[in-house]
Amino acid sequence: MSFEQSQAWFDRATAVTPGGVNSPVRAFSAVGGTPRFMVAGDGAYLRDADGNSYVDLVASWGPMILGHAHPAVVDAVRSVASSGLSFGTPTMGEVELAEALIERVAPVEQVRLVNSGTEATMSAIRLARGFTGRSKIVKFAGCYHGHVDALLAEAGSGVATLGLPKTPGVTGASAADTIVLPYNDVDAVRKAFADHDGEIAAVITEAAPGNMGAIAPRDGFNAELKRLASENGALLIMDEVMTGFRVSSAGWYGIDGVAGDLYTFGKVMSGGLPAAAFGGRADVMASLAPSGPVYQAGTLAGNPVAVAAGLTTLRNADADVYRALDANAQRLGGLLDEALTKAGVAHAVQFAGNLVSVFFTDQPVHDYAGAAAAETFRFAPFFHAMLEQGIYPPPSAFEAWFVNAAMDDEAFERIEAALPRAAQAAAEATR
Ligand SMILES: *Cc1c(COP(=O)(O)O)cnc(C)c1O
Repeated sequence: MSFEQSQAWFDRATAVTPGGVNSPVRAFSAVGGTPRFMVAGDGAYLRDADGNSYVDLVASWGPMILGHAHPAVVDAVRSVASSGLSFGTPTMGEVELAEALIERVAPVEQVRLVNSGTEATMSAIRLARGFTGRSKIVKFAGCYHGHVDALLAEAGSGVATLGLPKTPGVTGASAADTIVLPYNDVDAVRKAFADHDGEIAAVITEAAPGNMGAIAPRDGFNAELKRLASENGALLIMDEVMTGFRVSSAGWYGIDGVAGDLYTFGKVMSGGLPAAAFGGRADVMASLAPSGPVYQAGTLAGNPVAVAAGLTTLRNADADVYRALDANAQRLGGLLDEALTKAGVAHAVQFAGNLVSVFFTDQPVHDYAGAAAAETFRFAPFFHAMLEQGIYPPPSAFEAWFVNAAMDDEAFERIEAALPRAAQAAAEATR
């Protein structure tokens, strides 16, 4: 497989952008080699600048549940764009998108639209602090909530991929109010509330983590978070930026039914354009400007084109789409398991709803320590053998794999054909 064009563009990119990318997880830092410059997507497939075709298992890191360039979404975007791109006034689509989110996720009574998941979590913790009059935030190691200063401590996603213990530039003051606990550990949460009585504004958690690989919450974990938070006068913020409208039409809430006080959404809800949201209990949301004193704003928030992409994606995500996502995730996980078993590689294929990931370990993984203890050195050769054969998995051992509903038998046949060589490469890997 030739990638001269990607290499040439990557050389130009590194001259003008740090690391050549606009978000670290796109660089191949953890796996080495040349990031591919994509020029087109169609359904389950991507095409790069050298004309190579890939089965896409990243889906723009989650949003593209319908596959790339879905005709209804592209038409909606084209039609709205031709009437103007942004007005800085209220528009009808914003109301319809807010209604669509509220209709799907019962605990959400009001929402505010923003431009990214990072903005959503940043605003949600400001609102939680403003509403409760408290400062401290509990987060879990390996959960990623965007690059908010206070939430970068022991974060997942690119922070985990690059192995950064902490990020320079985050002051002691902004990190001091963050309490980081091991995921899935109820006792640690109970102890934090006892140690910081009356000081904790909110517990923020990925409703089911997908940023340290896919790790489902243990039975009862979310319910216990909810109970402890309410008992102690704190809010529970369910970060569903990744799981929202992907793992079911109601996100992870649709799977475990535990109601957060606040929610954050992104990715699927904007169909591949930049938009996100936070929302929740109406009495809490009423604290937000202009109805209340907690300030939050955005020049392009609720952008009509992004709203059209999101709304059309949600409207097209019917029961058949969710059935296909679930079936495709199971089929992908089954193929991974079969190939790695045949090659004699210790592995745990895990699911959180239809998020899939593979850890090179014989232990089930329940937290970040478990994810980090896996044999991640096997991932780079495994990844490159897949890539060489036209499959595009996430370029990190700490990311979930994202299926889409457009995956057809041909896509799975290509994955199945590529896996034995990749599993062999994983088996032969050395530290
Ligand atoms: C992607 C993600 C974010 C950050 O969203 P951005 O749009 O990248 O800022 C926050 N939380 C979770 C759970 C995510 O997966």
